[in-house]
Amino acid sequence: MFARMLKLRLLNAVAPAYFFTATAVTFILHFGFFLPTIFPSSGESLKGSALLHAVVFLFLMLNALGNYIMTVKYPAESANDPVIIPACSPDCSDRVDAHYLLNGRHFCKLCKKVIFKRDHHCFFTGNCIGNRNMRYFIMFCIYTSCTCLYSLVLGVAFLTVEYAISFENPLTFLTLLPLSTGYFFIGGVSGPQLFLVIMLYVWLGIGLVCAGFCCQQVLLVARGQTWCQPQRGMPAQSRSPWRSNLRDVFGTRWGLGLIWPVQTVETCAGDTAEPEPHTE
Ligand SMILES: [Zn+2]
Repeated sequence: MFARMLKLRLLNAVAPAYFFTATAVTFILHFGFFLPTIFPSSGESLKGSALLHAVVFLFLMLNALGNYIMTVKYPAESANDPVIIPACSPDCSDRVDAHYLLNGRHFCKLCKKVIFKRDHHCFFTGNCIGNRNMRYFIMFCIYTSCTCLYSLVLGVAFLTVEYAISFENPLTFLTLLPLSTGYFFIGGVSGPQLFLVIMLYVWLGIGLVCAGFCCQQVLLVARGQTWCQPQRGMPAQSRSPWRSNLRDVFGTRWGLGLIWPVQTVETCAGDTAEPEPHTE
């Protein structure tokens, strides 16, 4: 148990650093290499296209970063619960990172807080995702996915323009990494070139994982469930219609929240409820 907790704490420190490094690398590749190469400044007609791509990329990246900040700024902690670390009994069936309390509350051992309607602990933000920041977390996933897939498209365009690699055959992308790695070891491909190819696969991986994760979260929210509940074999607590469940999480100004990271959830019913006694 101690070793697993240590691993989770290490992951909690490394994952945010990985996120910010990947964000910085993506930003530098876009403005330092992709846009100047794909849209050379000599072509006047291409300036408008370059500007459009820069605006779209900045919009996606700022939304991803903004929702990241909102997820951290509005944590899902339950304000009425005192910070008392519950003692686990030897036969405690709880997960390694959280201790279940009554009334939909969990004590997160990584955040050291009581979390209302806890969904999961997100290692990339270093925070628990619960009722208050679920909306920002979902938008963070959507915009991270869009930023990565957009970067992938521009990365492929950069390889086509700079190195005349044709991606007409879908197999070209699949064989790009193994071939580039092989050529790297015999000196045919430089380190920065191999790094760019690896980044293409990183963007594809993160883009698809975030998109899939986002769909799962929206489905759980619509059902009025949290990820913790199916894990514990608990049925959905909410019998409200899906529209009402979505409005609870996305707030009344959800339309504005879709295009800019603003606060759309004003009140939190859970934080005003009286805390229940612990189960163990
Ligand atoms: Zn947590």
